[in-house]
Amino acid sequence: MSAPVMLITGGSRGIGAVTATRAAEAGYAVCISYASNAEAAASVVADCEAAGATAQAVQADVAVEAEVIGLFKAASQMGDISAVIINAGVLEPMQRLDQFSFDRVSRIMAVNVTGAIMCAREAVKAMSTRNGGAGGAIVNVSSAASYLGSPNEFIDYAASKGAMDTMTIGLAKEVADEGIRVNAVRPGLIYTDIHSDAGDPNRVDRLAENVPMKRGGQAIEVADAILWLASDQASYVSGTLLNVSGGR
Ligand code: NAP
Repeated sequence: MSAPVMLITGGSRGIGAVTATRAAEAGYAVCISYASNAEAAASVVADCEAAGATAQAVQADVAVEAEVIGLFKAASQMGDISAVIINAGVLEPMQRLDQFSFDRVSRIMAVNVTGAIMCAREAVKAMSTRNGGAGGAIVNVSSAASYLGSPNEFIDYAASKGAMDTMTIGLAKEVADEGIRVNAVRPGLIYTDIHSDAGDPNRVDRLAENVPMKRGGQAIEVADAILWLASDQASYVSGTLLNVSGGR
């Protein structure tokens, strides 16, 4: 029997990349998607294979419907999809809301909201017992921004993660008796490349003083929460928004 497949969107770098290697170590076959960084994606695939797993990387922009459909098709060819980690997300440079352009807000919403919902749609099609699937787990990678609001930084991004939280709550109820659990993690300040996209590579260290634990988090600390929510150890957990934010 082939290993259960974990599909991770945005698995080439940061939280998604570490989640992929942890999934490989846990016995999943791993399918990661990436936007453009093929080299980073290939390196994650090599790490998963070194851990003994089958792995593949698929270039797929989650904001393009046909590419999302193609991603799920490629993952399903590896075996039964049993866990989907909706992790791909983008930030834009820090600005006040009164400076936001239409294009900026549209891009954030297309990737973080529409893309996430399209991935969730394909996950339900693949895993719901109602559709002939064997059940599984969806873990959404939201953000502490959803409850902090991110004033003077990126209220649009924070609002996109608020939408993801609401999607988590609603979808968890919608598919609870179809064998699918739906949960979210809400990371705080985690050391990844995403802060460079916001225009401040040192953002985590700059703001760490505001975290009750007085430090930023590592991607592995988020990945392990994701792996737990996806696992059978969390078999009675659905609709939960798990803060992974150093007490913030
Ligand atoms: P990251 O290091 O910047 O990595 C982003 C990943 O997403 C990369 O694999 C990237 O692919 C992929 N990606 C970007 N746009 C995409 C698109 N349109 N379609 C498909 N894939 C796309 O980010 P991260 O910090 O690990 O963030 C992962 C998730 O955690 C995001 O949803 C983010 O909002 C959330 N989060 C992060 C933090 C934090 O402090 N780091 C805190 C809270 C929440 P390429 O390599 O090809 O560019």
